[in-house]
Amino acid sequence: MDKRRIAVLGFGRTGQAVLEFLLRREPGQPLLLFNDDAIAAGDERRAGFERRGVRFLTGGERFAELATLAGGGQVILSPGFDGRAPRFAALRAGGAEVVSEIEFAFRQLRARVIAVTGSNGKSTTVSLVQHLLAHAGVPSRLAGNIGVPLIAEVDAVAEGSWVVLELSSFQLEEIVRFRPEVAALLNITPDHLDRYPSLEAYAEAKRSLFRNQEGDDWMVLNADDPRLADAGRLGRGRPLWFSSSRPLGGARPGAWLEAGGVALDLGRGRERVSLEGNPLRGPHNLENIMAAALACRAAGLDAGAIEAGLPSFRGLPHRMEAAGRVGGVEFINDSKATNVDAALKSIAGIAGGLVVILGGKDKGGDFRALLEPLRQRARRVLLLGQAAPVIAAQLPGLGGRLAFVRDLAEAVASGYDELRSAGGTVLLAPACASFDMFANFEQRGEVFKEEVRRLGRREGEHG
Ligand code: ADP
Repeated sequence: MDKRRIAVLGFGRTGQAVLEFLLRREPGQPLLLFNDDAIAAGDERRAGFERRGVRFLTGGERFAELATLAGGGQVILSPGFDGRAPRFAALRAGGAEVVSEIEFAFRQLRARVIAVTGSNGKSTTVSLVQHLLAHAGVPSRLAGNIGVPLIAEVDAVAEGSWVVLELSSFQLEEIVRFRPEVAALLNITPDHLDRYPSLEAYAEAKRSLFRNQEGDDWMVLNADDPRLADAGRLGRGRPLWFSSSRPLGGARPGAWLEAGGVALDLGRGRERVSLEGNPLRGPHNLENIMAAALACRAAGLDAGAIEAGLPSFRGLPHRMEAAGRVGGVEFINDSKATNVDAALKSIAGIAGGLVVILGGKDKGGDFRALLEPLRQRARRVLLLGQAAPVIAAQLPGLGGRLAFVRDLAEAVASGYDELRSAGGTVLLAPACASFDMFANFEQRGEVFKEEVRRLGRREGEHG
């Protein structure tokens, strides 16, 4: 490791994991931790790092002091930091190298990398890839946006085994040499427009995944996404395409759907992965399965191993998760549907009578795309949280089918009342972030499931 002074930015899970890693490598080296928010001097974790020699600089107004301390050094960003913000220009001008945690960790990593990004489907796809590798006896670990920072895995993974890495667009900023052997970009749809100046800027961050790949690396791409159509512009890797709308093969190696299965053609003949026993619901998950199958094929699994592993995959909680049934009403928890496109896919994945719960913290999304599917499919649309008035204003065409609810308890009760006689599905697919009322999407999903259980007990008593 080089001997430059290092400043770590952010004291969340990622920043702490970077500090741990650095101190393990070289105890006592001078390190600096900057955090915009104050961290109480009595904070136990802070005190622990201070005892090991880490200097803390907290409060946004002290950022400028980094310029002197980290001058000529390296600045490692947690995903929450926007390295494009003007305040970083001065740091760079002073000679500091600014890198994301992903870039920093990659430089230390001995394992091979399968990286997945996209607006939606990342967690499902990386989990499925990891499951399929594990089922086939190939050692691998999950890291990145899905939970464990990559830096925390660096010392744990054996040389030559795989890391399956979920990356958000934020994590792809400030990469320099990061080069995954297999890189999948699932889709680019509007999300996080509160942070990016435009959809194009957001798309650009996603596309940088391929920037450093060479001709023997693989790019897994969504053939149905017009923004990904020109593979040559994306990078030098070998493209593999997936499409849920048309057959590929020949000049377009990849995966597509055929009756009861996925067809694969990587340029060396046709193969097939049966979908019998596919545990995942909804058309969007067929895309995730195709992407995962291609990534695993690129990593060396054969089609038979992929087919054998698929039925034992358990989907993730809060993604089209069965949350219970009360009488003839089924409740589905898709709390992770935090943007409009995800909600659209969830709605498309459900047949029969439908009530949809929308709303939460608006991320600058355009809700108008929901109008037609909701008009055709939903008997009622329940609006919750900060974004409720915004959504209502954008969907006037739904008229009397729109209703405001105070909380998830009221949403569950009201959805049930609507469907109890005819039966159907109450779907939580908010198309918004959760932070206005909940700590995160997991808590929102847990509260929803708890309200469904409560309703079940109440109905059980009465009926
Ligand atoms: P991410 O990690 O990208 O947020 P998840 O796998 O956690 O993705 O899924 C999040 C939500 O996005 C799901 O609850 C579902 O509603 C939707 N979704 C999943 N896969 C896709 C896909 N391929 N295309 C569009 N929407 C999807």
